[in-house]
Amino acid sequence: MSKRILVVEDSTMMRKVIVKTLRDAGHEVVGEAANGADALEMYERLRPDLVTMDITMRGMDGITAAKEIMARDAKARILILSNMDEDKYRGEVERIGAIGLVNKHKSEQILALVGS
Ligand SMILES: [Mg+2]
Repeated sequence: MSKRILVVEDSTMMRKVIVKTLRDAGHEVVGEAANGADALEMYERLRPDLVTMDITMRGMDGITAAKEIMARDAKARILILSNMDEDKYRGEVERIGAIGLVNKHKSEQILALVGS
C-alpha cells in the first residue's frame, strides 16, 4: 500500500537516493527535511504515515527528533536509517518506539519495513 512519507536526511545526495527508492516503489514522499527541527515542523504540518530518519545531523540529531515526534504523536511510525557504524543505537531505537533501525544503503530492507 502506498504511504505518505517524510524523509529526513542531511546529505542531499543520500536524500535523493532514499526519495527515489521510495517513489520507485510507489510511495509518496510528501516532504524532505535536512535537520531535526525542520523534521518536527514538517511532521506537525504534514502528518505523514511514516518518517525515515537519519541519525547524525547538525543541530537536532535524528534520535532526539524521533523522541520529540513520538512525544507529540505516540502513533507516529518512524524508521531510523543508519550508517554502518551506527548499530550502537539499536537499543535506543527500540526504547523510543521507532519501528526499526536499518542501514540506509539497504533499500530492500527499507522498503520491507516501510511496507509492513
Ligand atoms: Mg547524516
